[in-house]
Amino acid sequence: MLLGCTPSSISVSADPAPTASIVFQPTSAVAVPPTATVTAPAATTPPPSATSTPVPVPTVAPPEARANLPAPPLLAPPTAEQAPRDTDGSAAPQSRGSTPAAGPVLPGETWAAQELQRRGFVRRPGSKIVVLDPGHGGPEVGAAQGRLAEKNVNLAIARKLKALLEENGIQVLLTREADTRAFELPDALADTPRAPLRADLQARVDLANAARADLFISIHNNGSSNPAEAGTEVWYAPAHPQGDKNWLLGQEVLTGIVEQLAGAGYQAPNRGLKNGSQFRVFQGRVFPLFVLGPSRAEPRPARGITMPGVLGESLFLSNSHEAALLGQDTFQEAIALGYLQGVQRYFARGN
Ligand SMILES: [Zn+2]
Repeated sequence: MLLGCTPSSISVSADPAPTASIVFQPTSAVAVPPTATVTAPAATTPPPSATSTPVPVPTVAPPEARANLPAPPLLAPPTAEQAPRDTDGSAAPQSRGSTPAAGPVLPGETWAAQELQRRGFVRRPGSKIVVLDPGHGGPEVGAAQGRLAEKNVNLAIARKLKALLEENGIQVLLTREADTRAFELPDALADTPRAPLRADLQARVDLANAARADLFISIHNNGSSNPAEAGTEVWYAPAHPQGDKNWLLGQEVLTGIVEQLAGAGYQAPNRGLKNGSQFRVFQGRVFPLFVLGPSRAEPRPARGITMPGVLGESLFLSNSHEAALLGQDTFQEAIALGYLQGVQRYFARGN
């Protein structure tokens, strides 16, 4: 989510800036401090290389042919302790000089390589590899509506999408496979309240890089202080070295989700592509979405994804109607099909 989930887990914002905290609680009563400015610039003119060419809609195997994965629990009691206050992934803004940010931004390449081995992940020659990143997990709830927690909805969609991609010959790695963080920072290393989340987010990026994935897709759902806000948006990083590909992937994923939701009976407002390189402006400084990589405007020493990637916000958990849809298998499936369509059309363009 954006006002709800994103700042608490995937953005980079000023560390010593409690006034910029955007707290999303399981009710619609959410106050956004006036000092917190969220930028959501519309995507600019598409790169010339990304002009649209009709690509056939991917064929999808019938549901019964799919992997029989256990459905994750959707209900989570969003206690006050779990509510995503600014526990977040807000990393300290990088100093403009050469001094690195305080805190251990773990883990690293060695950890990631060992983790892939522990999970039994072996690259399959000739296969495309897509890393799916179900947002939040464990103590990071994300947005919520009643007892419906974003972290669980994200994982449910990711599992469905994993099955769909695998049916289509694409190798998939999930950054987390259960209701946990991707990496649990030992307490002894948690020098700041945000250190565990930073380490978790860095772990997700490092796993994708270690897997030498072709794509990184972070799966989220949205939250807002305004319960009327609705619809689908996708974030991408134009400042990333592969910004053009990010744009194309984002466009295809956005189109895919909106089309598949419509096919399932819900006309989601298309909120467009959003610039993740300028996710938030605070005190005149620009902060990118962490998992989409460093921006040129605000370079960070933390490692960014080396492959194209996007972050999808399929629907709003803070909107009661959309939350009701997100709790249904049918609409989770539609969203997963939307991502599949986007990925397949992206690959079909020769990427
Ligand atoms: Zn989220």
